[in-house]
Amino acid sequence: MHPHTPHDRKQIIVTPSPAGSPTMNVSVVLLTSDLRLHDHPPLRAALGGSRQVVPLFVRDRDVDRTGFAAANRLAFLADCLRDLDAGLRERGGRLVVRSGDPVEQVCGVAAEAEADEVHMAADVSAHAIRREERLRRALEAEGVRLHVHDTVTTAVAPGALTPAAKDHFAVFTPYFRHWARQPLRGVLDAPEAVRVPEGVGSEELPSRAGVAGVSPGLARGGEAEGRRRLAAWLRGGITAYDKGHDDLAGDATSRLSPHLHFGTLAPVELVHRARAAGGPGAEAFVRQLAWRDFHRQVLRARPDAAHADYRTRHDHWRPEREAEEEIRAWREGRTGCPVVDAAMRQLRHEGWTHNRGRLLAASFLTKTLYVDWRVGARIFLDLLVDGDVANNQLNWQWMAGTGTDTRPNRVLNPVAQARRYDPDGAFVRRWVPELGHLTGPQVHEPWKLRGPERAALDYPDPIVDLSDGLARFRAARKRT
Ligand SMILES: Cc1cc2nc3c(=O)[nH]c(=O)nc-3n(C[C@H](O)[C@H](O)[C@H](O)COP(=O)(O)OP(=O)(O)OC[C@H]3O[C@@H](n4cnc5c(N)ncnc54)[C@H](O)[C@@H]3O)c2cc1C
Repeated sequence: MHPHTPHDRKQIIVTPSPAGSPTMNVSVVLLTSDLRLHDHPPLRAALGGSRQVVPLFVRDRDVDRTGFAAANRLAFLADCLRDLDAGLRERGGRLVVRSGDPVEQVCGVAAEAEADEVHMAADVSAHAIRREERLRRALEAEGVRLHVHDTVTTAVAPGALTPAAKDHFAVFTPYFRHWARQPLRGVLDAPEAVRVPEGVGSEELPSRAGVAGVSPGLARGGEAEGRRRLAAWLRGGITAYDKGHDDLAGDATSRLSPHLHFGTLAPVELVHRARAAGGPGAEAFVRQLAWRDFHRQVLRARPDAAHADYRTRHDHWRPEREAEEEIRAWREGRTGCPVVDAAMRQLRHEGWTHNRGRLLAASFLTKTLYVDWRVGARIFLDLLVDGDVANNQLNWQWMAGTGTDTRPNRVLNPVAQARRYDPDGAFVRRWVPELGHLTGPQVHEPWKLRGPERAALDYPDPIVDLSDGLARFRAARKRT
């Protein structure tokens, strides 16, 4: 449950329109996962020829209804909307926020503003596709044109690259070969001025303080913060990304994922700027951005991959009720497997964890515990600030072996992985303070301690024997 004011009680504050003022040449820009002013094709197109623009964000009631409105994302979103409003005000404009059904709200705002066109970014989820289709029909009926822009939320548009006789790439490596050669559009400047017609009212902007249940270490949102992080990343971290990105304790990744999710940063701009920085670190970083586009083109072509196996392995996952205790222990970071617990505790504390931590947590749940990937994906979506249908569901499927991984039966051994990616144990000690006094890699196998040292540990025994888990998974996949 995410306490927030119900939509029907939202107050709309109307800026009065001077009687009889002409409101010709007005565009509405529906902002969704593109909460920025820099490199924003829909906004630039909407402003073309000095038109007035209503920058509109609709708090979609279906997103709440389907449980997708997690506290961490609502708090980050509130930061983004406030920052966007501030950026628009610096340019003479303002943000208009409404709640409800996006189609009804956009049509209502277009009518109030006497707009003759609406611009928005293309997106990939089934929900987004439905929204676009409904919006197109409803606006057409009102004589308003809908313009949907590509390369706003991806660097390369989904569907722009396809293998012969197929509608999407199912394997990353060949996709990436084509993706890397694809010419990108240029980066667009933020507009200097935005004129918003009077008379179009907005609800009060949400605030982070109004959201309950937010992770204490949640990062700050907003375009200004995103650009600050990007500049710092390009000045420093990116250089060593190729070598350091898997080092759990080093925390040497960009942490730009929430900004990409909410679109406070543009993927096209990121690719251009990383390429300009150059070097192996930047190349490795650009490759990860391609993974993001890859998952989006998969989801665009197979929207049901959000909930159904992309490639079935005929799994009969353990019933959730049977595994209830283990699922709870996994979610709360007390499986007795330190590196998995560390990742889950970081996730709960920050609403974010390292990619390697996500992989280890997902492998442990789906393969060692043999629990359905959808259970883990749902729990991640409840917590992740970057929680994203394409990236979350398809990464879960990748790890579960029901997705695009070409080695679907691989099982990550959490001890071997911890020794490799957290060799000194610093990541585990940071997040599992009960083990903080253990030195070096012994922190990864506390069950090996003997006598009083083990008895004194306030940390659970492993909820599963790793080799039993492996044997169960292999038997289930008929790999024995
Ligand atoms: C089980 C699981 C669930 C995940 N859920 C999400 C999610 O909901 N949202 C999300 O954005 N990422 C998700 N990822 C991918 C990845 O873990 C995060 O994007 C990354 O950890 C974010 O940190 P960063 O910004 O520092 O990444 P960096 O390493 O700095 O990478 C730069 C950017 O590249 C993209 N990227 C990196 N790795 C991947 C990947 N494996 N797949 C797709 N894009 C990638 C992200 O947009 C990221 O911000 C998930 C991975 C796993 C294994």
